[in-house]
Amino acid sequence: MNIAVVGTGYVGLVSGACFAEMGVSVVCVDINEEKIISLKQGNIPIYEPGLDELVLKNYREGRLNFATELISCLDDVDIVFSAVGTPPDEDGSADLQYVMSVARTFGQNIKKYSILVTKSTVPVGTARKVKTVIQTELDKRGVDISFDVVSNPEFLKEGSAIKDFMSPDRVIIGVETERAKEWMTKLYRPFLLNNFRVIFTDIPSAEMIKYAANSMLATRISFMNDIANLCELVGADVNQVRKGIGTDLRIGNKFLYPGCGYGGSCFPKDVKALIKTAEQNNYSMNVLKAVEEVNQEQKKVLFKKLFYYYRGNLRNKKIAIWGLAFKAETDDMREATSLVIIDLLLEAGATIVVYDPIAMEECKRRVGNMVFYATDMYDAVQDVDALLLLTEWKLFRLPKWDAIKNMMKEALVIDGRNIYDKKEMHELGFTYLCIGC
Ligand code: NAD
Repeated sequence: MNIAVVGTGYVGLVSGACFAEMGVSVVCVDINEEKIISLKQGNIPIYEPGLDELVLKNYREGRLNFATELISCLDDVDIVFSAVGTPPDEDGSADLQYVMSVARTFGQNIKKYSILVTKSTVPVGTARKVKTVIQTELDKRGVDISFDVVSNPEFLKEGSAIKDFMSPDRVIIGVETERAKEWMTKLYRPFLLNNFRVIFTDIPSAEMIKYAANSMLATRISFMNDIANLCELVGADVNQVRKGIGTDLRIGNKFLYPGCGYGGSCFPKDVKALIKTAEQNNYSMNVLKAVEEVNQEQKKVLFKKLFYYYRGNLRNKKIAIWGLAFKAETDDMREATSLVIIDLLLEAGATIVVYDPIAMEECKRRVGNMVFYATDMYDAVQDVDALLLLTEWKLFRLPKWDAIKNMMKEALVIDGRNIYDKKEMHELGFTYLCIGC
């Protein structure tokens, strides 16, 4: 089976490489020429554990190829996956211009029955619009070629994307014809050997499942952050509360970790988009509005703790930040809490030294010389008035605290991920602040 995957970002490149690994012939297409040139030279534009080897191996063995135009490979493929970005528009709704552009190219150029699968996260009703766009293009050409649209939302997590794609909890496939169902079943068959579930649904439900899943996860995070903030006020310990409620089988122990707010390319934009979809249907998603509001505030919590500690005066204070990526094992800084904290610290007149094992280049691209870039995690804490931990990289889990304490001007550690032990930090002589305890 031959497929094309349009958009070689986190989702497209991982999907393409994983399908190729299963023996499918894949062409990954991106309009960003630089990206494609760099991929052909063996340079992977994003950081994702295991992706380099998978891409290089499959490229070398001829199952994975790259192109800048979908037209160049359409004649040879049966299924086109659209994995282009769907960033938030100014009003929070999903910007579908890239999705529609792929649909137009598809309609303008297919010569035989083909399937267009949307893997991007798109609002309910998008497949219907995609179908109309394709049909309009076919009508303009005056040709009668049958095609199908399919919704196959992606649930991979950055940082464990390959594992998630290769052995997912489930695959959701929204179809409207038996023919499309058969083709998709065939394509996913190699993965089925691992015994995971494929759930076929109608298309609107598949589109909604993705938003509902991300919104549910974001809700758990904001709920726990709210509980954590209240714990601080009433003298409870959110770590103990988390264990206490997580053992209730109805609740489960996943996604109950309080922290310094969720970021990334998905939760923030998908929550906003679902709120917008509801508004467009004269409905108000009140829970999600609160989820968003709590998250915006939570991103400021570490700054507020620092501000309070220094009695509102951070001018000329030197602050170290460990972790810039929105979460560990990725270089992605989209909607990262670090960006909010950096802005607030700069506004307050502080000097900032940052360190992240992978996202330094991405930070330079976004923040430039507004901050200082340390050579390693220890270099970052030299003479600082506080250390803020923002990303839970493994590297930061067991630092040499004795050495760090001697390097810091003020032994103040503010932990946005609750990865250190409060009692131990106090025994080591640090002022230690965390979330909800
Ligand atoms: P991304 O921004 O990393 O990549 C998108 C790519 O599409 C870019 O390389 C861009 O150049 C390319 N592109 C845009 N228009 C194009 C066109 N007309 N033709 C060819 N290429 C084009 O995006 P991403 O993070 O991979 O996300 C893609 C979609 O998948 C989004 O809808 C996102 O919500 C969803 N999603 C993302 C994740 C994730 O963890 N990143 C997980 C699940 C779903």
